[in-house]
Amino acid sequence: MKEEIEPQIVVESQKVCKNCLKPMEEKGKAKFCSKGCKGLYNRKTNDEYIDNTIKTLLSNRDILKNDFKNKKKVITKESLIKDGFDFNCYTKYSSGLFATTKIYCFEYGVELLEPGVKILKLDINKT
Ligand SMILES: [Zn+2]
Repeated sequence: MKEEIEPQIVVESQKVCKNCLKPMEEKGKAKFCSKGCKGLYNRKTNDEYIDNTIKTLLSNRDILKNDFKNKKKVITKESLIKDGFDFNCYTKYSSGLFATTKIYCFEYGVELLEPGVKILKLDINKT
């Protein structure tokens, strides 16, 4: 009697280059198939980071500009966050021992008060 052998699918996990996804021969710690691929990958990642930062800055500026135009001069920090404002992304920061903290996204900014924040607009011709 002939013994039936169950077919087995063996998927060997092969390491691939993080940039071009080509299979790599090397079993070491290398993540890229070449220095060129490493450079391209890092440049792409940096470009994405810069693009996202610019998008966030412009979005922050739009939020502040709207609130400023709607005469919302003092609002809560939470309402800004709810609108999508990112307090970690700004173009100018100022703080001092006897001064309040101010952060700006281009010409619009906020002065951090307790409680709430005051929406500010810089006269860019004077700075
Ligand atoms: Zn590659």
